[in-house]
Amino acid sequence: MVEGVSLERLAREHGTPLFVYSQAAMLTALAAYQRGLAGRRHLICYAMKANSSLAILQTLVRAGCGLDIVSGGELERAMAAGADPARVIFSGVGKTRAEMRQALRLGIGCFNVESRAELDVLDEVARDMGLRAPVSVRVNPNVDAKTHPYISTGLKGNKFGIAHEDVIATYRHAADCAGLRVVGIDCHIGSQITQSGPYLDAMDRILDLVQGIEAEGIAIEHIDFGGGLGIDYQGDAPPAADALWGQLLQRLDARGFGERAIYIEPGRSLVGNAGACLTEVLYLKPGEHKNFLIVDAAMNDLPRPALYEAFHRIVPLAPRDGAPSTTWDVVGPVCESGDWIGRDRALSVRAGDFLAVLSAGAYCMSMASNYNTRGRAAEVLVSGDQATLIRSRETAADQLRLERPLPPA
Ligand code: PLP
Repeated sequence: MVEGVSLERLAREHGTPLFVYSQAAMLTALAAYQRGLAGRRHLICYAMKANSSLAILQTLVRAGCGLDIVSGGELERAMAAGADPARVIFSGVGKTRAEMRQALRLGIGCFNVESRAELDVLDEVARDMGLRAPVSVRVNPNVDAKTHPYISTGLKGNKFGIAHEDVIATYRHAADCAGLRVVGIDCHIGSQITQSGPYLDAMDRILDLVQGIEAEGIAIEHIDFGGGLGIDYQGDAPPAADALWGQLLQRLDARGFGERAIYIEPGRSLVGNAGACLTEVLYLKPGEHKNFLIVDAAMNDLPRPALYEAFHRIVPLAPRDGAPSTTWDVVGPVCESGDWIGRDRALSVRAGDFLAVLSAGAYCMSMASNYNTRGRAAEVLVSGDQATLIRSRETAADQLRLERPLPPA
């Protein structure tokens, strides 16, 4: 069940692969942050790259979230979801001039700028429009988030942010630019972080910088500590958001910054464990070396295992109690050996059974592709005993619509 709705019923009604989300689970996850930051000036900007489906954005925006975006496309989605542009922040290392203009026209809350070159282009674009762009500099604090290298972003070798030692000079430069208005400072050290130590280290390094920047007469209105809090995929035990923020606020107070507005950019921790992907077992293919369980979901639907050998729990919707289980590699129909969803899983299943791939609310649908001309899955949002189809299954016709065939030979 997800809330009051049977997953088996949803799989039969809508077909598979099918993403199903619990709205209550998202709101519960958000409430932990809201509790942790209660009484403080703060803005929780949901990092919509985690899952940008409109109904999910609407759920979180209506519950009080701002949004963290990384492209003009995400900005259009944010507007379509009814977000207030002043509560939207724009991250990412490669903003184009067109995206900057689009965001400035709408009155975006803040650009998190990631390089000196970007700062100069933004200054030029804003001056051309007769505006001043609100900016934070994203700092690369050189802190080890102790997570997978592909989702670690706050180390010197990563492409993100401006090196700690160059930050004060960058702020001096920004303060001199007529097209820029310094409003904050930003960092984001990585994703799926399961310890509070890296956050505390990053906070210390950021607060040192705030002191240095303000000593230059440049005011920092808000401090953005990014996202990155992990979820339980496989017995991981990240701190709860309210407990983490209890610890971080203590440090903030101890250092005399308790009054400062706090921005955060959580993604995975708001939606990751609120979603599952339902898939049907197509074929059992036992072999000499490996047993393969071929299902109808694939790496185009669930890219995380192929991308970073990520683990998702996989459970049958109707367990066959007492039946002997076999160890399977759960794989999809895509023509790649990298198309696997789970390895060495003990499951007792038959063709036609449904499985749920758990913790699939974040970085699954938003990373889905059309590889092998597979249509992207449908999505259902559950609230109580109500299930709402929030995205129809994509057809081949949907995919062909944008293509222009050659004229007849
Ligand atoms: N902020 C920025 C700049 C990011 O790059 C990301 C994710 O990569 C996030 C926030 C969200 O991270 P998470 O989903 O781990 O909370």
